[in-house]
Amino acid sequence: MAKVNNDAAHDDMSLELSSQQLRELVDQAMQRLSLFLDTLPEQPTSNLDGAEQIARSVSEPLPESGVLAEEVLDQLFDTLIPASLNPTSPGYMAYVPGGGLPQAAVADLISGITNRFVGIWHVAPPVAQIEATVIRWFCEMVGYPGGAGGFLTSGGSLANWSAIVTARRCRLPDNFLNGVLYTSDQAHHSVTKAAILAGFPTQNVRSISVDARFRIRIDALANQIARDRHDGLQPFCLIAHAGTVNTGAVDELAALAELAEQHHLWMHVDAAYGGFFLLTERGRERLQGVERADSITIDPHKGLFLPYGTGGLLVRDRNDLRHAHCMRGDYIPPAPDDPDFVDFSDISPELSRGFRGLRIWLPFKLHGASPFRSNLNEKLDLASWATSELRKMNEEINDELEIVAEPQLSMLAFRLVRPGLGEDELNRLNGQLLERINSTGRVMLSATRLHNRYVIRVCILSFRTHRPEVATCLHEIRQAISSLSG
Ligand SMILES: *Cc1c(COP(=O)(O)O)cnc(C)c1O
Repeated sequence: MAKVNNDAAHDDMSLELSSQQLRELVDQAMQRLSLFLDTLPEQPTSNLDGAEQIARSVSEPLPESGVLAEEVLDQLFDTLIPASLNPTSPGYMAYVPGGGLPQAAVADLISGITNRFVGIWHVAPPVAQIEATVIRWFCEMVGYPGGAGGFLTSGGSLANWSAIVTARRCRLPDNFLNGVLYTSDQAHHSVTKAAILAGFPTQNVRSISVDARFRIRIDALANQIARDRHDGLQPFCLIAHAGTVNTGAVDELAALAELAEQHHLWMHVDAAYGGFFLLTERGRERLQGVERADSITIDPHKGLFLPYGTGGLLVRDRNDLRHAHCMRGDYIPPAPDDPDFVDFSDISPELSRGFRGLRIWLPFKLHGASPFRSNLNEKLDLASWATSELRKMNEEINDELEIVAEPQLSMLAFRLVRPGLGEDELNRLNGQLLERINSTGRVMLSATRLHNRYVIRVCILSFRTHRPEVATCLHEIRQAISSLSG
């Protein structure tokens, strides 16, 4: 009997790696990762020279055949990955950094290879329960009662979107275009974007002015609500901030909860930046009242230091989430009827979902909550310390260093002011200042505009950023200022 040679055909379609081959691939990747991590302190915080050219080099037609892992890994680690900002760097204090705990990446490897399905509880009960447990930890952290629930998202923006959709579905009729949302003029842009994606025209989002500490003005808010009611509109949702992205301002949550209750508004708190400070005593004090919100956005890829890709939405009454999202197909097994268990697809927009919870569960199981808490406490201390050092610096120099926003959590904003310069010139001057601070690549800060004033932000949040890095940052600020004065 002629023996059919299947080998050639199999070779051509073999996507299956032997465990030995897989181990070799992981080892090869790990060798590069070790080098990446070991050289992190020396890597520049930003390396965009030539990045555009390199980016173009990625575009190619779909390859018909493969190349050696060696070659692809070299391309990634030697060329593509380095040509970027470096949020893993200890000196990175731009935007809202987290650092990216490698432990969570190990969790991703496990989730990916075991490939469990977490959208339907019956498909992988204990695995779904891991995400449910992580959500329970967070609900307890924010002070929610037993009936609360939530789910993990890919980030804060999607959590804000699901929050507004939930508020809309629970508080407004199907024809909802009379509904009005309120937030401050310091709101993260994802709030307005979420409202638009939830079906509201931009003009239904009221941008309320803020006080000297960049917190929403409650009197202005109350006036606007009254005006809108008078005009026959339907105020239904207030989005407060526990740590704005511009300056880290924390709205007066308890007073806002009072007002929201009075006016039957759904209160959502965007705590994407500030939420995990609730693990600390000072954070709990500053975010007092957050437990009265109907829903809260958190962002573990910020305050829990996770790699990008994990946000979360917590809702005080999980039935509201179900009311907003539940829709079932005949091909899906029935939902668990035990209230301890949940089908995430019933309370969130997605059906197929990976083992997201493991990226949080594994680091907490390995380390406990304590080092997370200590890190967050350290960041609060570092922001206060940096502010007092900047104040001292200001006394030594002729230029005036204005602390525009004192830290309410771990973020502050400052700018250089010089007598005789108009706003535009000051903005240009501070743009130059930022460029010089970042030019050595040892630290990275970013800027924002506060009512048209250009200011420089320092956001201390990465688990890799400690006192020496903040000292380096202060040194770079001092050097940059004196180079501009000279
Ligand atoms: C980061 C941030 C967001 C958006 O979260 P992503 O995870 O980037 O989608 C929303 N609000 C605030 C206050 C933030 O800091």
